[in-house]
Amino acid sequence: MIGVMTAHGYELAVDVRGLRKRYGDVTAVDGIDLGIRRGEVFGLLGPNGAGKSTTVEILQGNRSRDAGEVSVLGADPATGTRAWRSRVGIVWQDESAPAELTVRETVRHFAHYYPRPRDPEQVIGLVGLEAKADSRIKSLSGGQRRRLDVALGVIGDPELLLLDEPTTGFDPAARRRFWDLIRLLADEGTTILLTTHYLEEAEALADRLAILAGGRVVAEGEPQALRDRFGTGAAVEWTEPDGTARTEHTETPTRTVAGLMRRFDGEIPGLRVSRPTLEDVYLRLTGQETVR
Ligand code: ADP
Repeated sequence: MIGVMTAHGYELAVDVRGLRKRYGDVTAVDGIDLGIRRGEVFGLLGPNGAGKSTTVEILQGNRSRDAGEVSVLGADPATGTRAWRSRVGIVWQDESAPAELTVRETVRHFAHYYPRPRDPEQVIGLVGLEAKADSRIKSLSGGQRRRLDVALGVIGDPELLLLDEPTTGFDPAARRRFWDLIRLLADEGTTILLTTHYLEEAEALADRLAILAGGRVVAEGEPQALRDRFGTGAAVEWTEPDGTARTEHTETPTRTVAGLMRRFDGEIPGLRVSRPTLEDVYLRLTGQETVR
């Protein structure tokens, strides 16, 4: 079996229903449903402790679950075979690759583990480490090290790549380069699941995303659709003649501005009308909203 077809005709690379996981008293994953389509970049977004890593570890077959059905490339990760594992790309953090080996030696070494690996030279180029190919791993910067980790995750030419917080600790320039790499892999047809607590990262990369909070999916969809669905209303700001700054949250900003126009004869000082951003939506849904 290759995958699961949904009622809408999408082939699902990952199909999760009613997933639950507890650690003692802590419910880390509290009944999650997820469908990741073949060929898409799916973002699992949420604050620390939301249950992202636990979910990804279960999909990798590296953690047991308490309840729910999970299908990854048509198989249950809990009983995944070696052949199945070779189709799923996992990027380890703190990979225990031998520090004395060079980048090229390491990538070539890992290629031997897979039945149909990519060309090591091509993969080194893909992650932008050509200039470092003959450098020892221990001499790499943090960002270069992460790119090597990704190289090792894709050397087996996986159909699905699972990335858990891949850019945590990156500086902005390294993050942008990493995003380019993800887009390249996606263009080549790799299905990618990426967890992140950076909203801008999910917005930049994900075709669809699920927002996770407290072990539950609180919203799921295309970034634009989420903004449209949950980000209703607008904030109208202006300054009163006595200098007081005012803000009104309203579903009908045009009416509010029309009212202000009648009251102020001429320009309305400090007038600003703003629609909620996806960040506002995210903060609201994950209960981190700040009162402005
Ligand atoms: P995220 O990746 O979104 O930060 P995690 O899946 O790591 O979330 O954690 C979800 C919850 O489960 C948190 O409350 C965390 O403290 C708890 N948790 C995670 N791993 C373990 C573990 N091995 N033992 C006990 N509790 C854990």
